Amino acid sequence: MADCLFCKIVSGEVQVDAVYRDDALVAFKDINPQAPVHLLIIPCKHISTVLDVDPTDHEVLGRAFTVGKELAKQQGVSDDGFRMVVNCGPGAGQSVYHVHFHLLGGRSMGWPPG
Ligand code: 5GP
Ligand code: ZN
Repeated sequence: MADCLFCKIVSGEVQVDAVYRDDALVAFKDINPQAPVHLLIIPCKHISTVLDVDPTDHEVLGRAFTVGKELAKQQGVSDDGFRMVVNCGPGAGQSVYHVHFHLLGGRSMGWPPG
């Protein structure tokens, strides 16, 4: 997708310090962190929102949890607890229309989320 920021991060046109990369997923620090640890885990494939996920995406999106688990351990937030959050649509606060998991940790968090 020519105009998608996260597709540009996947292709390398926009540079980020990736903390993880494989053939189907990339993870990097959020530019505007909402917690001491705030990473984004994105599929390389452009999927606009959760509403656009199809069965061929299941393996990669499932694997994002394994990557998230390993990154949470690596970042030292797995013992205290962390969140993996996906916003879908304007009411949920989605601002980049390429599916991504927020991995948030390093502070205590309230529920329900705002
Ligand atoms: P959303 O609001 O769509 O759930 O999350 C998008 C996230 O992308 C936000 O937390 C925002 O800070 C992050 N973000 C937006 N632009 C950039 C960027 O250029 N680089 C990085 N690393 N993060 C970005
Ligand atoms: Zn995209």
